[in-house]
Amino acid sequence: MHELRKDILLGRWVAVLSDSKAPSEYDLPGRNRELESSCILCPGRENETPSEIISVRKPGTSNDTTGWWTRAIPSFKPLFQIEGDLGRRGIGIYDKMNSIGANEILIESPDHNIRSEDLGLEQVKRVMTLYKYRLVDLEKDSRLRYILIYKNSGKDAGEIFSHPVSYLMATPVLPKKVKDELDGAKQYYNYKERCIFCDIIREELRVGERIILETKSFVAFCPYAAKFPFESWIIPKRHNCAFQEITSEEIEDMGLMLMSILKKLRQIFNEPPFNYFLHTAPNMIPRRNHWHTLGEDFHWHLEIIPRLVRMSGFEWGSGFYILSTSPENAARYLREAG
Ligand SMILES: [Zn+2]
Ligand SMILES: [Zn+2]
Ligand SMILES: [Zn+2]
Repeated sequence: MHELRKDILLGRWVAVLSDSKAPSEYDLPGRNRELESSCILCPGRENETPSEIISVRKPGTSNDTTGWWTRAIPSFKPLFQIEGDLGRRGIGIYDKMNSIGANEILIESPDHNIRSEDLGLEQVKRVMTLYKYRLVDLEKDSRLRYILIYKNSGKDAGEIFSHPVSYLMATPVLPKKVKDELDGAKQYYNYKERCIFCDIIREELRVGERIILETKSFVAFCPYAAKFPFESWIIPKRHNCAFQEITSEEIEDMGLMLMSILKKLRQIFNEPPFNYFLHTAPNMIPRRNHWHTLGEDFHWHLEIIPRLVRMSGFEWGSGFYILSTSPENAARYLREAG
C-alpha cells in the first residue's frame, strides 16, 4: 500500500507511492507526451474499466453497458484504497498513515471529442448531479476527511485521458490548502460573526469591477488578490457550506455559468490548459473542538485556474504570487468575451 507522510514543519501530508519510479520513467514538462490514442473510456468498452460506482443513464439500460450519460468509475491506478484501516503511527519523530481513501474518474460524456464547455445544458446538469451523488455517498465514510472534485484540461494541466473527465480524490486527512481556507473563514467569523465569503460577494457586487457574470443564484468574479492571472471563482449567493445541498435549479444555473466562463477563456486564450476544483466543506463528522461554526463560517465555491504562466523560483520560494494582469482587467476581458 502507498503511504501518507506528514511534514511536521508545515503540517501538510504527502503520498509516497509504493512502486517507486526510476529516473527514466519521468515525463519531464515540455517533452512530447502523447495522450492515449485508443480510448478505454468510450462507450462499448465498459467491461474493460473497473466496474462503475454509479452512472446517470438512459432508462432500461444496465450497469457497465452502453447507454450512460455520465459514469463514475474507480481510478485505474488508485493512489488511495477504500479497504483497510488508517493505521496511524509514529516512526521516530515522524507521523505516517495508510493511504486510505478513494479516487474516481467521473466521465463527463459518452462523446469522446466534446469539451466540457460544449456539453450543453442537459449534459452539464448530469455532470453536476454526478458530483453531488458522489459527495453525498462518500461523506458517509467516517474515515474520510475530505472529498475534492477537480478537473485537468490540457496536458500542461495534468490531463491524462483524451476523453472528457473530472476526478474525485477522497483523503483521510484534510488537505493543507483547504485547512488554510477553513481556518481563515473561522477566524473572520469569530471576529465579525459573519461569513467571509458572503461579505466578499456583497463587496464584489457593490464595487462591480471584478465581476465576470451574475445570475439569479451565482456570481463569478476574479478575486481581489488572486494567485494567478485570470483566476476566476464561481460562488453561490445563497449561503451554504456544502455543495451537496445544491438545488436542481442551482445546478442548472451553475452548469451554465461554468460552461460560459470556460468558453470565455477558450475565446481569449485559444484553448488554454486549465484546472478547476470544488472547495466544499470537509466531512462533518463530529471532531473534538472543531467544526462548531462550519455551517455558518464556510461557503462552498469553485475555483478555475487557467494555466497561463510557469511559476518561477520567486513564487516557489516565497509563496508570493505575481499577477501580470490585474484582476480588474482580467474580469473586463472575460466580461467582454462572447
Ligand atoms: Zn473516449
Ligand atoms: Zn456565506
Ligand atoms: Zn477555495
